[in-house]
Amino acid sequence: MSDTPFQQEVGKRRTFGIISHPDAGKTTITEKLLLFGNAIQLAGTVKGKKTGRMATSDWMQMEQERGISITTSVMQFPYRERMVNLLDTPGHEDFSEDTYRTLTAVDSVLMVIDGAKGVEDRTIKLMDVCRLRDTPIFTFINKMDREVRDHIEVLDEIETVLNIKCAPVTWPIGMGKAFKGIYDLMADTIHVFKQGQASVVPDDIQIKGLDSPEALELLGEELVEEVKEEIELVQAASHEFDLQEYLDGKLTPVFFGTALANFGVREMLNYFVEWAPSPLPRGTDLGEVAPDDDKFTGFVFKIQANMDPKHRDRIAFMRICSGTYSKGMKMKHVRIGKDVKIADAVTFLAGDRSAVEEAISGDIIGLHNHGTIQIGDTFTMGEDRQFTGIPHFAPELFKRVRLKDPLKMKQLQKGLQQLSEEGATQLFMPLNNNDLILGAVGVLQFDVVQQRLRDEYKVECIYEPVNVNTARWVYCDDERKLEEFKRKGGENLAIDGGGYLTYIAPTRVNLSLTEERWPDIQFRSTREH
Ligand code: GDP
Repeated sequence: MSDTPFQQEVGKRRTFGIISHPDAGKTTITEKLLLFGNAIQLAGTVKGKKTGRMATSDWMQMEQERGISITTSVMQFPYRERMVNLLDTPGHEDFSEDTYRTLTAVDSVLMVIDGAKGVEDRTIKLMDVCRLRDTPIFTFINKMDREVRDHIEVLDEIETVLNIKCAPVTWPIGMGKAFKGIYDLMADTIHVFKQGQASVVPDDIQIKGLDSPEALELLGEELVEEVKEEIELVQAASHEFDLQEYLDGKLTPVFFGTALANFGVREMLNYFVEWAPSPLPRGTDLGEVAPDDDKFTGFVFKIQANMDPKHRDRIAFMRICSGTYSKGMKMKHVRIGKDVKIADAVTFLAGDRSAVEEAISGDIIGLHNHGTIQIGDTFTMGEDRQFTGIPHFAPELFKRVRLKDPLKMKQLQKGLQQLSEEGATQLFMPLNNNDLILGAVGVLQFDVVQQRLRDEYKVECIYEPVNVNTARWVYCDDERKLEEFKRKGGENLAIDGGGYLTYIAPTRVNLSLTEERWPDIQFRSTREH
């Protein structure tokens, strides 16, 4: 049976995110990918060259000209008959929930590793997250223009620390000042490195065959022999690429290059659009939804304040899981049980100024959120269902919020409510007093919230210590038991920003004792709805 035009379009989608430790080169490689996708032009932006940030601000300006100001959250661009959706995974210092949830909206991941540093902390954490769904992973080992570590050693580290098989697809020839290019092991082709092409689509100078006279001329006899020996060693020590193992998340194809000098990125991208999965099915309470199902479904994985001060609303990012969004269509907002008309969703196709009117499975759209949308919400044209696997995590840090000006209670509540819907913090309101308690995963979140309350909601607040050590979401199928628990355990119960019942425990010991005393009640450290 041949594919329908809709299935063909879905099959072209490649929706992915980049994971890396800070400074490995995520921003730089993003810029180069956008360059290949014709989404930005870097030529002429020499001023900011040193930091590579000029290109990002160009991009932002372009976004503003289009009337969108969501910076780089989602970038869509066509490449070689494919449509690529690149989702930014934010949150540098603290491991953020936002990043985790963004990873639930992608079909695969690109892992960028600093060739001089190898596997670093944050990469390990993010890989753990990818593991939960066996997300397929591409690996790019960066900074070959520097003196980096022994590559085989780095591969070994990836295999042992990250517990995934490595299949090198390209291999660098030389490094640092002596960097000559990369060798494509599968195609037996050398791509020759040329300096000074960082801000344009670089020429692709190819030499077919390591044994060719051209290779000999470029590298000299000694280096050719050296490379051949190294390649033999690599092939013996690593794995051959296997598409199925890659798709199962068990093996990662590995590429080398330098994002800064824009070399090796295109070779990686070319394989990426071939091998990376098109949109995958997504789980719901009523079973999986197939991406080529023509009834529209999608879920919200992130909410972000609109950066444009002229627009005070917030944008809810929705991953489309099946069907087509078209401008002005009606869909059901399952949690609140209402049909809503979506006339002005934001789409993210770069470089195209005319507003796109359609988006399909695998694409991301931005909905203007006036306070009714929460992270995890499902929208559908078909039967009522709820996408699963988009969790909130129990925070580890708590503070009580106090107002400097008590008359601003309304603004404070509104601000905290919205910031918690965005996932910037979690809010807990005890049942038996009027405290407002904030929970966070990382300390920085508190500062961000304080600042944003001041800037966006014009309220000054201060934090006080509060006697809460951990939080658990409370579930129980037995209404009577739950009521009894509420009556007797009332002093430590709260409602969270999403309206869910939570147990806020003063100590770990208190939590274990309570769990023992109430065996019929579930105390969960994550919640989904
Ligand atoms: P991020 O924190 O992962 O987004 O990393 P950036 O893309 O901001 O890069 C961190 C630093 O490494 C910046 O100073 C970049 O210019 C530099 N950098 C990125 N890629 C390369 C590379 O291939 N070679 C060298 N020498 N530096 C690079």
